[in-house]
Amino acid sequence: MGLDSNFAPQKRTSSLPTTVANGRHSSGRGGQPRGRQIQKTFNNIKITILCGFVTILVLRGTIGVNLSSSESDAVNQNLIEETNRILAEIRSDSDPTDPAQPERDLFLNETYTLGPRISSWDSDRKVWLENNPEFPNFVSRNKPRVLLLSGSPPNPCDNAIGDHYLLKAIKNKIDYCRLHGIEIVYNMAHLDRELVGYWAKLPMIRRLMLSHPEVEWIWWMDSDALFTDMVFEIPFEKYREYNMVIHGYPDLFYDQKSWIALNTGSFLLRNCQWTLDLLDTWAPMGPKGPIREEAGKVVTKFLKGRPDFEADDQSALIYLLLTQKEKWMDKVYIENSYYLHGFWTGLVDTYEDLMAKYQPGYGDQRWPFVTHFVGCKPCGSYADYPVEKCLRSMERAFNFADNQVLNLYGFGHRGLLSPKIKRKRNETVTPLEYVDKFDIRRSSSHGTGRLLR
Ligand code: UDP
Ligand code: MN
Repeated sequence: MGLDSNFAPQKRTSSLPTTVANGRHSSGRGGQPRGRQIQKTFNNIKITILCGFVTILVLRGTIGVNLSSSESDAVNQNLIEETNRILAEIRSDSDPTDPAQPERDLFLNETYTLGPRISSWDSDRKVWLENNPEFPNFVSRNKPRVLLLSGSPPNPCDNAIGDHYLLKAIKNKIDYCRLHGIEIVYNMAHLDRELVGYWAKLPMIRRLMLSHPEVEWIWWMDSDALFTDMVFEIPFEKYREYNMVIHGYPDLFYDQKSWIALNTGSFLLRNCQWTLDLLDTWAPMGPKGPIREEAGKVVTKFLKGRPDFEADDQSALIYLLLTQKEKWMDKVYIENSYYLHGFWTGLVDTYEDLMAKYQPGYGDQRWPFVTHFVGCKPCGSYADYPVEKCLRSMERAFNFADNQVLNLYGFGHRGLLSPKIKRKRNETVTPLEYVDKFDIRRSSSHGTGRLLR
């Protein structure tokens, strides 16, 4: 789902042409002139003949495919070839219907910006919120309106299995958001020609903040991060005085200047002027090509443990926050009391152990909130870890999380590596007795979740 479909009006009934609506209304059942009745009968006959023709076509198609195995092989082969041809076309990025394929200017002499500089967002937004009380930024006293944003590249993954795991990852996010009243946007468009790849999240975040002044917090989550605690909720009251919440370790950050001190796979930004200013300062290191390459050298020199490669959004953020500590850090909350981001390698092998000892709702090492598959690149063709280990671990994390959802409905996976499910409760004629018992939405957060296994 792209941004456009999210912003499209949901109800279209009012746009029905009035003539059609009126026409229907005025031509009631009886009392039609004879000429019109004959016309109507004639129309009905035409429709019947058309339906018959379509039925024959469909039957012919179905029977035809089953005629013989060699014929069906040929059809399959044809389908594969067609699919490959379409995939190649999509990947080639050429669009015959788009005559304007501009040369890729580098804007080397210009200072890169995300858009016109906005400086009165806090007061403008405040006025908007006052004028639009039907869209409050707090849905209740301690519950801010939150929008979870994720996305993936516009093109198909290098490997079909990558698209399968993107689907599983978005299903996992939809489940969590549905259960906790969080809005969700999944973007696949590159909103900025220069900020592609891991940098694509910056223009997306800014665009959504400006288009949805009612949203208090934007929560970015990478496509390769999964919710693994479906009960835990972010303790927003803790961040009343902060504008950014990010997983990390203060000693790695302040003392060691490590390039993995903070993780930009899952973080929160408040919709305010401070955030717009941060994005404006962060983005100029991102334009692809020479600028990103040069910025890469700067951050590698400055940060501990960083290999030499182009600037990534995470290194650039750490660099920026460290070099301008006074300006930003009083509004940044470095969180590690739960896994807002959890590095997968240490977590995925503990699930059986956790299931034996604990229950969802803790969000920390007892039941990790988010498991992030850093270095697995499920949608790309190279990774820092063996593909088999990544895919196996992602399947385990997905099913571990999905068990918590399926449990609501009386089912569970046969095993953590099995897409197949089994029944955990019998159907009953008094289903309401289970609703309160298993409903995640009523569980209070922070380690006091109900027994969900
Ligand atoms: N991403 C995106 N559009 C792109 C490329 C990446 O929305 O064209 C997002 C995607 O959610 C991905 C994140 O940016 O998880 C970080 O990008 P990276 O290349 O680091 O991928 P990862 O290592 O997370 O797979
Ligand atoms: Mn990631």
